Amino acid sequence: MRRKVIAGNWKMNKTPTETKAFVEELKAVASGKDNCDIVICVPFVDLQAALEGTKGTKIKVGAQNVHFAPSGAYTGEVSAAMLVDLGVEYVVIGHSERRQYFGETDETVNARVKAALEAGLKVILCIGELEKERDQGITAEILGKQTKVDLLGVTAEQMKNVIIAYEPVWAIGTGKTATNEQADEACGIVRDVVASLYGKDVADKAIVQYGGSMNAKNAADLLKCENVDGGLIGGASLKAPDFGVIIDAAQ
Ligand code: PEP
Repeated sequence: MRRKVIAGNWKMNKTPTETKAFVEELKAVASGKDNCDIVICVPFVDLQAALEGTKGTKIKVGAQNVHFAPSGAYTGEVSAAMLVDLGVEYVVIGHSERRQYFGETDETVNARVKAALEAGLKVILCIGELEKERDQGITAEILGKQTKVDLLGVTAEQMKNVIIAYEPVWAIGTGKTATNEQADEACGIVRDVVASLYGKDVADKAIVQYGGSMNAKNAADLLKCENVDGGLIGGASLKAPDFGVIIDAAQ
């Protein structure tokens, strides 16, 4: 049995002050819910507050991006070593909003994934097809290419620290959720690609999340799907009671 991972992606929301208050609420709703892993991926400036607030709890903290170079002339960027030094455990890489608005490609995603893993971070790697790609019937090809290129050079041992979040781009922040069948099928396709790269044992253990308008109402059904090992949740992770319902559903 794979353990489910429920991760919130706050995007560009919440100040450090709001983070402190939110974490207190989240601790109350997450208390005693020990049958899944809980992660909050917050803006860089909120990391310290999130880490301090969650100390001694099972709630883990992640960043939403990381640079691929160890240090140097990259104004405005943050390295993997900086995140590790702060106590951050997870990092989201390749989110579709970064691909769409910030020129992220599979090649830069791959470089970030390798830098993060080498520094000891756990990676939540986001992949997913555009609506027009689904309409063209090429979802499997897109997921295959993204998985293969984004993981180039990642070893089977390092795969223990990789979560893949299948996030159909058309479902992110749109309120349009994939059906349970679409989510299960796509997560299964990703697992098959992982099997082709690393073998069945690694694929059977790999955590493949679904992300895209998962919320308090639809989470229970999505999380029942055989190939869906948790969720990457944007909007619905910003309200502790809603996030709490999703955590409950993963129990
Ligand atoms: C996300 O940001 O990864 C996401 C899935 O957003 P939302 O849940 O708001 O669609």
